[in-house]
Amino acid sequence: MTDDTKRDDAPSPLAGLKINLVTPAAGGSSLNPFGAISIIAADPGTAEPLVAAADGEVAADEGRTGSKVLVIGSGPAGLTAAIYAARANLEPIVLAGSAAGGQLMLTSEIENYPGFPDGIEGPDLMARFRAQAERFGARLVDVDVDRVDLSARPFRAWARGVEYRGETLIIATGASAIWLNIESEQRLRGKGVSACATCDGFFFRGREIAVVGGGDSAMEEANYLTRFASKVHLLHRRDAFRASKIMIDRTYGNPKIEVHTSTTITEVLGEAKVEGLRLRDTHDGSEREVPMEGLFIAIGHKPNTDVFAGWLDTDEKGYLVAHEHTNSRIPGVFIAGDVQDHRYRQAVTAAGDGARAAIDAEKWLEEAGAAEAGEAGAAEAGEAAAAAGAAAAG
Ligand code: NAP
Repeated sequence: MTDDTKRDDAPSPLAGLKINLVTPAAGGSSLNPFGAISIIAADPGTAEPLVAAADGEVAADEGRTGSKVLVIGSGPAGLTAAIYAARANLEPIVLAGSAAGGQLMLTSEIENYPGFPDGIEGPDLMARFRAQAERFGARLVDVDVDRVDLSARPFRAWARGVEYRGETLIIATGASAIWLNIESEQRLRGKGVSACATCDGFFFRGREIAVVGGGDSAMEEANYLTRFASKVHLLHRRDAFRASKIMIDRTYGNPKIEVHTSTTITEVLGEAKVEGLRLRDTHDGSEREVPMEGLFIAIGHKPNTDVFAGWLDTDEKGYLVAHEHTNSRIPGVFIAGDVQDHRYRQAVTAAGDGARAAIDAEKWLEEAGAAEAGEAGAAEAGEAAAAAGAAAAG
């Protein structure tokens, strides 16, 4: 899997959703678009984007680029914010990312999103979110944000050379997959190493593969992959799991899954494709090599915050901090979803956050408008009083 092989021109099977569709690579795996929005660090103090568009590359944006509510991100949080803002007649613009739809685009069946008693595939759910936002007048643009300027209103964001402005800004950029970051894992990404079971599971039909991680994601992916693989080894570095009991039970109850605790991966073996793993027992430090044809990484996520560096507060894990309700430290800038949440990280909680952020933005606009009208009225009254005083003195 490689994130740098983007195909913005790829056709979308999802009614206008533009995704980084992937090409199966030789050896059986495809490229991973994991990570909803790729964002590039920028210096808040500089006037120019750090990544300038090449000559002729500046996009001619034919739609409107200014709105009362600008949303960055198009997962459940961003699109729910867009639905609420659109229904409040705030005509939101959503900078959706070139891989629009967020992490659910890479998820298999979702069984815990209310309203879908039979479950729903992640991409289907996001297509519905999007259609609902567009139905009420949200404008979605499938571009990645390069840089923002939050120093004054309207807040500004640049994407592909186009400047977008919002009287308020809702940040819902989500989080992206974390990798083990060992050399052999990176070298074999797209050649048997993947962070997306939904994207790549199909290519491992009848093969013996491993999933690394001890949380719900790892359990979910391991179970999902048993649809294809002959056997799935779940590798976890500790004895205790973070995953929920139902997922642990399901995993231990699956005859195609073998769980290995206190086990870390020191090397992914193979030159052109994954052929095995070198594993270490964390109790005694012993190492062994096992044949394996694929490795799925499911060890958590990191928030997509680079583009906001220097502008907004982050916690010790790098997540944005909402101070009261969905407010950031900048009045008029709101935060929603996984970019500020490492505790719940559910589609339904992110959607709830998006609704809260849109309502907060709407109220803030009302109050800011009233305050500005009040200030203008006070200034006019002051001028009139001064004029009256001058006339009386004359
Ligand atoms: P997570 O809960 O943070 O778990 C990450 C796992 O990866 C942990 O077991 C961690 O080990 C392990 N890990 C982290 N870094 C590692 C490394 N460098 N090498 C080896 N192992 C490493 O992440 P998640 O599973 O993605 O879940 C995130 C949130 O989403 C959770 O709240 C979860 O409940 C939710 N979620 C829910 C569902 C569902 O309800 N269907 C599905 C997926 C996710 P340690 O435990 O040792 O730290």
